[in-house]
Amino acid sequence: MSQRLRIEGLSKTFHGGSARSGGVRAVDDVSLTVDRGQTLALVGESGCGKSTLVRTIAGIYQATAGRILVGDVDISDRRALRRHRRAVQLVPQNPLSSLNRSRSIMHALTQPLRVHRIGTGRHDRERRAATLLEQVGLSPDYLRRLPVGMSVGELQRVVVARALATEPSVLLLDEPTSSVDLTTKGRIINLLLDMQREFDLTSMLITHEIDIARHLSQRMAVMYLGRIVEEGPTEEIYNRPRHPYTRMLVGSATAADPLLAPAAAGPAAVATGEVPTGGRPEAGCAFAPRCAYAAAVCTATPALRAVGGEHRAACHRVDELDPAA
Ligand code: SF4
Repeated sequence: MSQRLRIEGLSKTFHGGSARSGGVRAVDDVSLTVDRGQTLALVGESGCGKSTLVRTIAGIYQATAGRILVGDVDISDRRALRRHRRAVQLVPQNPLSSLNRSRSIMHALTQPLRVHRIGTGRHDRERRAATLLEQVGLSPDYLRRLPVGMSVGELQRVVVARALATEPSVLLLDEPTSSVDLTTKGRIINLLLDMQREFDLTSMLITHEIDIARHLSQRMAVMYLGRIVEEGPTEEIYNRPRHPYTRMLVGSATAADPLLAPAAAGPAAVATGEVPTGGRPEAGCAFAPRCAYAAAVCTATPALRAVGGEHRAACHRVDELDPAA
C-alpha cells in the first residue's frame, strides 16, 4: 500500500512562551506515515501537542524542522503552499466558530471552489455545493440557511462538506466528536465511516477519546508532550497497549464497562496526575513524573523502538511491564 502522507522529523517550537531558554517544544521530532485510503488516529490528552501537530501539517503553523510529504510533494516548502492548501484540508474542532455566521451555507461551500478555481462558473459551483451537501446527508435546502440555528451535528456535516470541496488528498479531523452529545457523536462517527468508504479517504483523526479512535482508524499513534510514545495497528494497541501512558488511556476508556476492558491492558492505575504545562523536560522520559513504574533508568530519554511486528513504543521497561509476557 502506498504512503499518502509522510511526516519526517517534524518539530514545532513556540518561542517567547516559557521553558527557560529555547521556547516550548510543542511537537518534537515526530515521524509518521498514513497509507492511501487509511485513517491514522492521533491520541492523547489535551495539551499533548496533537492540535499543534495537525495545524502544522495544515500549514497554519510553520514547522521549526522536518518535512511533510503528500505523495511525492514536499508541502513543508512554502512555494508549494497553494497546492498544499488544496491537497490537505482541516476539519476544525468547533464547526460554528469556523463558519461566518452572517453568510449562508452556500457561501461557505462555494468559497473554497472560487479560491481554488474549481468549477466553470457560478451555476456550476452552486450545483457542486448542492452535491457536497447531499454527500454528507443534508438536503440542498440548507444552502440558503445561516449557520446560526443549525445543530452541532448539521454544522459538523457542513464543515466536512466544505473540506471535501477541494477534493483533498488528505483530510485532517481535529476532535470531530468533542463537545457533542452521545446521539450526535454516533451520527458523526457514522458520517465519517461512510465518507471513508465512499471517497477512499486518507485521513488523520485527532482525538482524546481512544474508543473513538478504535472505531475510525486502522493505525493509532499515542502522543505525550510533543512526542509519539506508541504507534501501530489500532486493534493491537487497544488490546495490548505497551506504554504505561497508553495503558492509562485504554484503562480510563474501559473502566466504565469492565466487560469491555481488554484483558491485556493491565491495571488502569499505572499513572496519575495531569499533563504538565511548560513543555517536555530536556532529558529523561517526559512521562516519569506521572508513571507508577518510573525507575533510575528513566532519567535517560527512551527511543521509539519496535516491540513486535509494526508495533513501536518508547519506554525503557516495556518488556518487563508487558502484561502478556
Ligand atoms: Fe514509565 Fe520509565 Fe517507561 Fe517512562 S520509560 S513510561 S517513566 S517506565
